[in-house]
Amino acid sequence: MTDPRLLLGQTLAFTADPFAVPAAEAARHDARGAVLVEDGRIRATGPADLLRAAHPQVPVTDHGTALILPGFVDAHVHYPQTGIIASWGKRLIDWLNSYTFPEEMRFSDPAYAAEVAARYLDLVLAHGTTTVASFCTIHPESVEALFEAALARGLRLVAGKTCMDRNAPAGLRDTPRSAHDDSAALIARWHGRDRLTYAITPRFSPTSTPEQLEAMGALWADHPTCLMQTHLSEQTDECAWVAELFPDARDYLDTYHRFGLVGPGAVFGHAIHLSDRERARLREADAALVHCPTSNTFIGSGLFDMDGLSADGHRIGLATDTGGGSSFSMLRTMAAAYEVAQLRRRPLHPAELLWLATAGSARALRLDDRIGRLAPGMEADLVVLDLASTPAIAQRAARAGDIWEAVFPTIMMGDDRAIRATYVAGRPVPRPTA
Ligand SMILES: [Zn+2]
Repeated sequence: MTDPRLLLGQTLAFTADPFAVPAAEAARHDARGAVLVEDGRIRATGPADLLRAAHPQVPVTDHGTALILPGFVDAHVHYPQTGIIASWGKRLIDWLNSYTFPEEMRFSDPAYAAEVAARYLDLVLAHGTTTVASFCTIHPESVEALFEAALARGLRLVAGKTCMDRNAPAGLRDTPRSAHDDSAALIARWHGRDRLTYAITPRFSPTSTPEQLEAMGALWADHPTCLMQTHLSEQTDECAWVAELFPDARDYLDTYHRFGLVGPGAVFGHAIHLSDRERARLREADAALVHCPTSNTFIGSGLFDMDGLSADGHRIGLATDTGGGSSFSMLRTMAAAYEVAQLRRRPLHPAELLWLATAGSARALRLDDRIGRLAPGMEADLVVLDLASTPAIAQRAARAGDIWEAVFPTIMMGDDRAIRATYVAGRPVPRPTA
């Protein structure tokens, strides 16, 4: 239980999906707004003078002209790759073999896993991200470490043991049985505890045998409230490899579908090179697609079809995909999403970018009834953005005619210096001391 507090600043509260209505009209902006938080939840939002008059006894934290938003939701990350972010060169499969797998090997050591989990969560909080959905490694210790660190910080978080039983080095392979049983034990221990959600996590079909994918499907059928996260159609040579490994499959998506891994609660990272059949099947299943733009440009994967997929009504989230992605920042990720969409001739409105990084990602993770919007009843995970955090941003924002023009320079040029404060369940996160 926490005492009530009024946070003052500019507020931007989405009232609709900006992909479904004129984007600029999808949110209510209060230039002098307030958010009333109590017991970890948002109790009210609205103009500051009205809320202050209604709650005269409640203590106030005044963030001035900074913009209060829901905390960012990063719908696809690999926390074990924190230490190898920005590793030079390579395409996807080489990148996994050269950088990812040797690093992931180290997570059999619980002390190392705990150290990286703590460092990772503190980094993302400093970037204004309050929920992530993370792959771990094949080691149950890596999952324990991340859930423990999230629990200690009161975070809402999604994670799962990455399962791989082929095409990975010795030391990074499990089996269909051990993947099933280790995942089941982690579900029993963590799923639904405090603010934690378990995601059944086959890495991707090249590193799982059909037997392992079948075991994952059976596990999900036994635990339907878990999410299921994996990768789909990131690079064309990966797609060709999948076709070789699964000669009977109709397409990449079918390698999951035939084992019961496509349905509501399935979360597919990347989803760039999709056939019409795959798009239709994903839509029908109401599965989520997660756009990882800094990763897609960094590893040279391709250009996500935000325009077409959003027009078709897909459930779409936004993510850094660290460490394949090149930044921990959802601001930088929104900027990359803007740039990728521009290459497909679709300029995304700032409202669409901010929605993807908050409510859109929450919806992809089926947490949109709890996080991702400034609205009464939602959990009070918040980020407070300084819209003039550097001289370059400040001089551009000073010319802004409305809130969208004011926030766009921070989206395009901002980083962790723009994060004035982060709140988790209504409590301010201590600022990093280094
Ligand atoms: Zn990934």
